[in-house]
Amino acid sequence: MKLKLHHQILIAMVLGAGVGLPLNILAGPQTLIELPIADAPTPTAGPLSEELQALFQRPELSKVRLGDASKVVEEREGRRWRVDGIRESYILRRTAEHFTVQTGGYWPRTIAAYGKMAGDVFLRLLSMVVAPLILCSLISGVTSSGSLEGLGRLGGRTLVFYICTSAIAIFTGVALFNIINPGRHAKLDLIEDSAEAAPVQFIAEDQGVGEILWNQVFNLIPSNPFASLSDPGNTSILGVIFFALLFGIFITVVGGDHGKLLTRFFNAGFEVMMKMTMFIIHLAPIGVLGFMLYASAGKGLDVFVSLGWYVITVALGLSIHSMITMPLILKFLAKRSPLEYAKQMSPALLTGFSTASSNGTLPISMNCVEERAGISNRVSSFVLPLGATINMDGTALYEAAAVLFIGQVTGYELTFGQQAIVAFTALLASVGAAGIPHAGTVMMVVVLSAVNLPLAGVGLILAVDRPLDMFRTTVNIWGDMTACAVVSKLQGEPEAPVVET
Ligand code: ASP
Repeated sequence: MKLKLHHQILIAMVLGAGVGLPLNILAGPQTLIELPIADAPTPTAGPLSEELQALFQRPELSKVRLGDASKVVEEREGRRWRVDGIRESYILRRTAEHFTVQTGGYWPRTIAAYGKMAGDVFLRLLSMVVAPLILCSLISGVTSSGSLEGLGRLGGRTLVFYICTSAIAIFTGVALFNIINPGRHAKLDLIEDSAEAAPVQFIAEDQGVGEILWNQVFNLIPSNPFASLSDPGNTSILGVIFFALLFGIFITVVGGDHGKLLTRFFNAGFEVMMKMTMFIIHLAPIGVLGFMLYASAGKGLDVFVSLGWYVITVALGLSIHSMITMPLILKFLAKRSPLEYAKQMSPALLTGFSTASSNGTLPISMNCVEERAGISNRVSSFVLPLGATINMDGTALYEAAAVLFIGQVTGYELTFGQQAIVAFTALLASVGAAGIPHAGTVMMVVVLSAVNLPLAGVGLILAVDRPLDMFRTTVNIWGDMTACAVVSKLQGEPEAPVVET
């Protein structure tokens, strides 16, 4: 019998931690000696400088590696230093401000580093599918509305509703994050020695929030969509989202044979990209194993402490959005009893929960909305397919909270302005995410790159992603269904008789 993916991920997580934690103990405590950069010796090729030698006169230091000049890996033997590329107990690192010497047993950390290598391969595969997946998914989603009429008044109302509710969800997530501060409970160092990520780089100190947001909006328009598509860091993916939405709309505007041809083309592309993404997602256990090994070997139990707080933050945010915000909207805008509507929608909500796929649940959602709640097919056939692609309140909330968490846990407290950028990018990332399991995690790569935070953070939160994915997918679907009820009310659609539940 083949194990379900989420069971495999769970096993990988337990295994990674089970091996990583003993390694952490074996590796012994890590000590960081941090010197201001002004006092730091400069690692250069050749014999070690006097000041560097003085630094390593400590008897407990036996092997030394200079992190950013790996050719100068030297092993101390008495007073002499010998080049040795493999073993290290002490890692030297230079950042803009500090010079760091890290001490601790070397071989457990070498094993942990192999774990990270495996995880990095998985992350790279995820990054690979981001751009084509978004392009095909969005164009296919927009063209599924079929007619120009669909893009008119009904479309306008639906889009405004989608944007507003996703923004509320993000606000809930960001507010909770700032109250709970899940990443402050334990710091994890996930930043690669070579690439010193620092979110401050992407934002000039003297910029106001208004200016920052304006820049973000302005940058939505790609100066060259092909360049955005082929940006290796996926940093201009928001431009791809903008272009894909417009392209989809204009395929519908053009219509006729050409419209059909392109619709079919992008539907086919979407189908293939979904399969490909699912294949890569199936490799997640390897990525989780690698990153868990790396994180728990490096940081011990702290990993679980921070992950626990992160899960609590996201789950609480999702609960508030689905059990307070959405019911209020249903009650006051759609004039429906939230409890009754939830009961009517329960087959789709439960399917969404168990499959973690809005797209997969779509046929059941349409059935529930039409048959059990009496909403017209005209509304449901537009609102739901579009919603499954672009309206993801749960994913939006999760993206924002997770990226802020990764920032915090790796030691970067984002300012208000930076949080605003994360919120805005998370909104667009939720629009771009496909309605398939773990798609939100794929999009995380985009949000992290936008604010220049370490991608390795994805590996860490991946370990607890499945339960959160199930939860957020249910919230995504619940949001689409609430939209159906509200839009139907605003359009003045008559309610059809409902099938008794
Ligand atoms: N699984 C989610 C959905 O299908 C997307 C996500 O991963 O956030 O709605």
